[in-house]
Amino acid sequence: MLKCYKCGKRFTKSNTTPTTFKRRKGWCKTCEKEYRVKNKERSRLYGLEYYSAHQSERHLYQQTFPYRHRTLKYFLKKAKISRSNPLWSLNFFVGLLSFNECHYCLGPLHSKGYALDKVDPEKSYLISNIVPCCVRCNRLKLNHFSYREMMLLAPILGQIQRKEI
Ligand SMILES: [Zn+2]
Ligand SMILES: [Zn+2]
Repeated sequence: MLKCYKCGKRFTKSNTTPTTFKRRKGWCKTCEKEYRVKNKERSRLYGLEYYSAHQSERHLYQQTFPYRHRTLKYFLKKAKISRSNPLWSLNFFVGLLSFNECHYCLGPLHSKGYALDKVDPEKSYLISNIVPCCVRCNRLKLNHFSYREMMLLAPILGQIQRKEI
């Protein structure tokens, strides 16, 4: 006998989803919907609680060095750079961010996000070919400007960053 596990109603094609009807076991449509709505609210409330409880902690963590290094490693992983590359080393990271400024606009690198820009996009990831820059400059450069053009734009970008114009 095909019955809903929860309310015991008999299964028909109209009160079950096709998958449940095919599997011949599970809950009817009404019970599934009820469960989903109830749990959505529960998980949402739990998430909010967790978020407010850890907000200040997380904020502090995002200002710290390990968090930033983690971000860099994420970028390197995304760019599929081999682990033997010295870019992965902590020393390189320390040197790269020692000034904590964007190569183009000279603004501070945001703790949450910054990018590593390839000076010459044709070349691969080499230490000499990488400069740190803010996400904004990185997106601006993309495929539209060359390194030389970006350096010509740099004084204006700096002025915008400092809100002088
Ligand atoms: Zn049911
Ligand atoms: Zn910048």
